[in-house]
Amino acid sequence: MTPAPIAAPIDGLHHITAISGPAQENLDLYTTRLDTRLIKKTVNFDAPQMYHLYYGAQDARPGSVLTFFNRETTARGQAGTGAAQAFAYAVAPEALERWQARLGGTRFARFGAEGLALQDPHGQAFEIIATQAQSVWGEFHSATLWLADPVPTARILTEVFGYSFAGEERGADGTRSRFQLPGDAPGRTLDIWRSDRPVQARPGPGTIHHIAFRARDVAHQQALREALLACGEQVTEVKDRQYFKAIYFREPGGVLFEIATDGPGFAVDEPMAHLGEALKLPAQYEPRRTELEASLPALVTR
Ligand code: ZN
Repeated sequence: MTPAPIAAPIDGLHHITAISGPAQENLDLYTTRLDTRLIKKTVNFDAPQMYHLYYGAQDARPGSVLTFFNRETTARGQAGTGAAQAFAYAVAPEALERWQARLGGTRFARFGAEGLALQDPHGQAFEIIATQAQSVWGEFHSATLWLADPVPTARILTEVFGYSFAGEERGADGTRSRFQLPGDAPGRTLDIWRSDRPVQARPGPGTIHHIAFRARDVAHQQALREALLACGEQVTEVKDRQYFKAIYFREPGGVLFEIATDGPGFAVDEPMAHLGEALKLPAQYEPRRTELEASLPALVTR
């Protein structure tokens, strides 16, 4: 790989997309129990018989957006090497006890911060980590990639995305390396986990499909795309995802990375005050609305 010119650093995480089991159970956890907001109810653009539910902070800001391809199945995937393993919400230190009382979970200490390790009803690992930098509930603290060899991925993070190596911690069953972006954007931290007992990741409910980094606009995204191409990465053309423009590539460790723009944002097809209330379909599926509405399970917002 030839060193690429560094584009302006990315602005932290934009969104994280995971695969869940039945949509109603997914909705109940992330809205009623975790207090994030349902900010978009749409379908998987590549498989419209399946919901694609988006959750986030009240204002649907980038860096808080967690989305699920909702499969109506009890099957499970397998977290493991070659995929993102967990995402973490940021919380003010004094709120951690309250979340533990509400959700249970296991306390941990990592890089000098307290955290709570949890699992959602479909097996997805997630964390709540105490930090002074948290500003609104729903913002991400970090994501963790599970990799066999962190070196090629770390080069992309540091040479193209603008991350700096921020330390390494040896745990009971593996090693965690931390990378951080300058500034205070939500989700500016990315961890790479190397397990002493590796298992291969298998996609399915309870696993993360991809993680999306944040470009401030299409020019920033284009500069990042060119820098990645110069590194020899196979990057897609720009895709219109209705709420943002997206490019994708599979990073050297096997994780699907996306770079998404802030604009046009989630209020592009419904008012900010009513995000997530109606089923939103992209133009190509509007003619099939009646059929799709009949086949998707009814969802109860509690
Ligand atoms: Zn995405």
